[in-house]
Amino acid sequence: MSGKELRFNSKVIHGGQKPDKAYGAVMPPIYQTSTYAQTSPGEHMGYEYSRSANPTRSALENSLASIENGNFGLAFASGLAAMDAVIKLLGPGDEVISTNDLYGGSYRLFRQIFEKYGIKFHFIGMQEVSKIAALINSNTKLIWVETPTNPMMNVIDLKAVSELAKSNKLLMAVDNTFATPYLQQPLDLGADIVMHSATKYLGGHSDVVVGALVVNDEVLAEKLYFIQNASGAVCGPMDSFLVLRGIKTLHVRMQRHCENGKHIAEYLLAHPKIEKVYWPGFKDHPNHEVATKQMKAYGGMISFVPKGSSFKDSIAIVEKLKVFTLAESLGGVESLAGHPASMTHASIPKKQREKSGVVDSLIRLSVGIEDVQDLISDLEQAIA
Ligand SMILES: *Cc1c(COP(=O)(O)O)cnc(C)c1O
Repeated sequence: MSGKELRFNSKVIHGGQKPDKAYGAVMPPIYQTSTYAQTSPGEHMGYEYSRSANPTRSALENSLASIENGNFGLAFASGLAAMDAVIKLLGPGDEVISTNDLYGGSYRLFRQIFEKYGIKFHFIGMQEVSKIAALINSNTKLIWVETPTNPMMNVIDLKAVSELAKSNKLLMAVDNTFATPYLQQPLDLGADIVMHSATKYLGGHSDVVVGALVVNDEVLAEKLYFIQNASGAVCGPMDSFLVLRGIKTLHVRMQRHCENGKHIAEYLLAHPKIEKVYWPGFKDHPNHEVATKQMKAYGGMISFVPKGSSFKDSIAIVEKLKVFTLAESLGGVESLAGHPASMTHASIPKKQREKSGVVDSLIRLSVGIEDVQDLISDLEQAIA
């Protein structure tokens, strides 16, 4: 089933899937093999070596393409490996315009790996499209967007950015990790490439590290497939199976993440000891209108700043949490809390970090799918 004819809640289960050829297994077997028997040199059943392709990975790649409304999916060993493949489309002298408030590891990959190879990166707030336009020159090749941004929850207008990208013949890639295709589908809004850290919501159970790309254009897909195979950072069969299993409940989990997220964002906003809450569902969030236009709901990621708190106070709060686990990562069924300045965003220089709002006292929550009252009681005791 290609899944194109199905609605999203069915695609997550059936999109791109068919029972296994050998015995009709409904879930694809974990083809834990590196190689495949050939009857004569070059004559095989579609698979010859598992870096190039593996049936379990193919099943995941078909599912990824289906849920993002794309034609081609590629699964990588991690989200960063997927990004790495996108930047390898470029060469020395090329320039990339990227969101300024983005995942710390993405920033590190751009600045500390690819700058060495002569690729130049600009970092800019993308809420005003004119700011992006001002940076475009004849060397610009790619616009890299992450929305909602991490950890400030800014929302970038994907349609407006894609119109700018198209009119300047630039590629546009969107890191859709936070929103997932349940909330927004960037290819439908004009993006060329969707990227995921499937480690997060797609996998959904904090048990695997996987990355993904989805594209519509066949030539672009071939170039990315060439890089995937030539560089070799592929997703293994067991990990492919786990993400595929996770995707089947994405819609149900996301619905609850969003409901719990709304409760907690509103609880924090009303709390006398909380200074600021960043969540795109608030009517006075600066990008609320864009969020409402391009997203189905507002997600379960929330950042907040306790009143008058310092680096130490915020650390004390996250240490006191009992139901929320203090950990890197996000998007699993369990609630996590993080302290971006010392954890996920420690690789971004303090000055650069504070310019985009990632102050020392900022706390980030990935709201899970537990009973929301337990989550609120936990926050209550930690903040008190
Ligand atoms: C985690 C994350 C990444 C990196 O993905 P890995 O799977 O950890 O390599 C990239 N972008 C965002 C938004 C993330 O949250």
